[in-house]
Amino acid sequence: MASIALENLAHSYLPNPGGDNDFALKQASHIWEDGRAYALLGPSGCGKTTLLNIISGLLTPTSGRVLFGDKDVTASSTAERNIAQVFQFPVVYDTMTVRQNLAFPLRNRGMEADYISKRVERIAQMIGLEADLHKKARGLTSDLKQKISLGRGMVRDDVNAILFDEPLTVIDPHLKWELRTQLKSLHREFGHTMIYVTHDQTEALTFAEKVVVMHEGRVVQIGTPKELFETPAHVFVGYFIGSPGMNFIPVSVTGNKAHINGNTIHLHHDYGNPQGDILLGIRPEFIQLTKSDGLPVQINRIQDVGRHKFINATLFDTEINIAADEGFEIEADMVKIEFDPANISIFRDDWRINGKAINQGEGGAV
Ligand code: ATP
Repeated sequence: MASIALENLAHSYLPNPGGDNDFALKQASHIWEDGRAYALLGPSGCGKTTLLNIISGLLTPTSGRVLFGDKDVTASSTAERNIAQVFQFPVVYDTMTVRQNLAFPLRNRGMEADYISKRVERIAQMIGLEADLHKKARGLTSDLKQKISLGRGMVRDDVNAILFDEPLTVIDPHLKWELRTQLKSLHREFGHTMIYVTHDQTEALTFAEKVVVMHEGRVVQIGTPKELFETPAHVFVGYFIGSPGMNFIPVSVTGNKAHINGNTIHLHHDYGNPQGDILLGIRPEFIQLTKSDGLPVQINRIQDVGRHKFINATLFDTEINIAADEGFEIEADMVKIEFDPANISIFRDDWRINGKAINQGEGGAV
């Protein structure tokens, strides 16, 4: 296994790229640690596959280097990189049995028969294929075939990394959760470096220790699910993670106060005097609907979604969402909101700014 370092990496599909907009992957450097489970998350077209293909060696970057551990692999072929890959659609040998399919990567490398047999049994057991080991792959459902692909990806213990490209797309929805859990325990047991590409935040957040969020060809944050939720580095992360996402309210900020339409919101940090487009970010969970003091809102609609109610409201010119517990009674004179100051984020030109912590006794809700 190895850490993966991307050094000043950038990629354009154009022969003579000019500005940033010509790059599917804008220049950046990152280190992905050895033995960790990463999810590469972002909407369609943000550059996930481009980045994965550069790591696997299917694509040579326009500039920059890829290192596995200390070794520069930028010019190495996929085979030389010693990685396993699982693709969106199953890749199995139809004429072979499930056992032969799982054993194939090990046979190919001349492993001992005894080792192969034990390893195949173990993988089959962890991924729920034991009962099917003797069956020919040809007649199996696409769910089972994709399980074989996943098993084949995991069967070698000497790979530098395992790359998954949206591997659960063809899997029946009720099986997805089960397979994600199995992949997670396989990771815990074998400790491979894993990179899992998905556009589905639930998949990313439940599978990965660290989620790499991409937006318009850029990695905007690498963080634990908790970090992405609590301290998004970029407005895109706030918006993309969570359902509904973070609310963003245009404000101006001086010191530990945010100002909006003549109202003041007290903050837990001192931000100085930031210039540019300043947004106050707060998740729906940290806004309280009240009758007393606060910012005035107009309620547009209420949506009951089982354990929560989501209240859509307008604060001056900005539409916001507020989350309340299912038992919360919304009364007609509740037309004010308060923010939990500990959970307010401030963004300048789309990027989070971290203020200086101040005495929290000074801060009020609004
Ligand atoms: P998806 O989830 O839809 O696969 P993605 O996040 O994997 O999207 P990429 O496939 O990496 O995104 O695409 C990033 C950008 O590069 C997109 O604008 C896409 O149109 C462009 N692109 C991808 N492959 C090529 C190619 N072979 N030639 C030209 N442009 C490409």
